Amino acid sequence: MFCCRLPSFNELEQHRGKSSWKRWLFGHQLPSADELAYVTERIEPTGLRECLGQLYEKLKRNKVLGAQHGWMLAAVDGHESFCSYKRCCEKCLQRTVTVGGEQKIQYYHRLVAFQIICEGFEFLFDAELLEPGECSEPGDDEVAAALRLITRVLDNHPRCFDVLTCDALYLRPSVIELLEKRGKHLVAVLKANQPQLLAEARTLLPLEAQLQGESSPHAPAPAPAEQQFKTPAAPGKPARHVLLQQAEGFRTESISTPLRVVHSHETGVRRQRIAGEWVETPIDSHWWWATTLPCSLADGKTIFDFGHDRWKIENEGFNELVTRWHCSHCFHHHPNTILVLWLILFMAHAVFHCFYKRNLKPELRRGHTVIFIVQLIAASMRQNRWWPPPPG
Ligand SMILES: [Zn+2]
Repeated sequence: MFCCRLPSFNELEQHRGKSSWKRWLFGHQLPSADELAYVTERIEPTGLRECLGQLYEKLKRNKVLGAQHGWMLAAVDGHESFCSYKRCCEKCLQRTVTVGGEQKIQYYHRLVAFQIICEGFEFLFDAELLEPGECSEPGDDEVAAALRLITRVLDNHPRCFDVLTCDALYLRPSVIELLEKRGKHLVAVLKANQPQLLAEARTLLPLEAQLQGESSPHAPAPAPAEQQFKTPAAPGKPARHVLLQQAEGFRTESISTPLRVVHSHETGVRRQRIAGEWVETPIDSHWWWATTLPCSLADGKTIFDFGHDRWKIENEGFNELVTRWHCSHCFHHHPNTILVLWLILFMAHAVFHCFYKRNLKPELRRGHTVIFIVQLIAASMRQNRWWPPPPG
């Protein structure tokens, strides 16, 4: 179903009886939508996580997954899978939404995913559903799910990452403590949810660029020299000029681990195709990151790269799965089915990208979109023939 990017169990059921599928199912028939619902309610996620673990080991052995700047990088982020006013289960989260002046209860599911990020490859490794009624403060339930997820990943694969990059929500004592205990580091976006830290960082690392060597006299640690560089230009993405400022030794009332704050000021232009014309708009953006990695272990450019790589779980992860793999569809409303299908989807996603990036010959990729390649695979499965054709 995921391989052919079919949007539902019912759609898959339409293909029942077609002889071409028997070859891929070792002579068996496709299951019905009801059979799929029954089975996915009962599959143990542990076994699927072991399969993903085997996939991880193989990708690692074959050098598909490797370090960046000498560190293995991973990301965690939350995602809402779907919502409904009508259908709910015992594990549904609830919120009150005002629709046309009327208050209605909306049911939804949210999960936290863990992704390993490498040069040219991203591997979605594991996921954890948020539990209802777990915490009262907004965001706490997502962090609680993330802590369960990171603990499990590290118990099973202690060396799969060194640095975790994440959104401002995860810049909390509980996350830092867990990572510190396991010898790992955190790079998190610094936003208004840590007001004391952000205000202190803004004072010490002002938005206006300082001249080289003119560090603030109030810095908690001597501010290292500023760093300037240009991001490499890519097709349709002109180079940006980046100025980094950083200082170490930040602490808050709740976070006792000394943090380093990196501030980046990025300027350049954004090129967009609007109504058939290339339009350039100026970029003048500021980013703040807090990290447990000291300057002696990783320079500012490394933190800048890791901070920006966090977007890969959004862009190469959730966005692709929603727009291309139908993951926002509720295939069958049962908490186990939801989790199990996400894990199977992670496997399908990894196998597809491995095939596309590492197996498919460049001449077959050239001039074709990924979607075109997907259509060829789907057509070949339906027609009971190999694509690409076997060599010779
Ligand atoms: Zn539910």
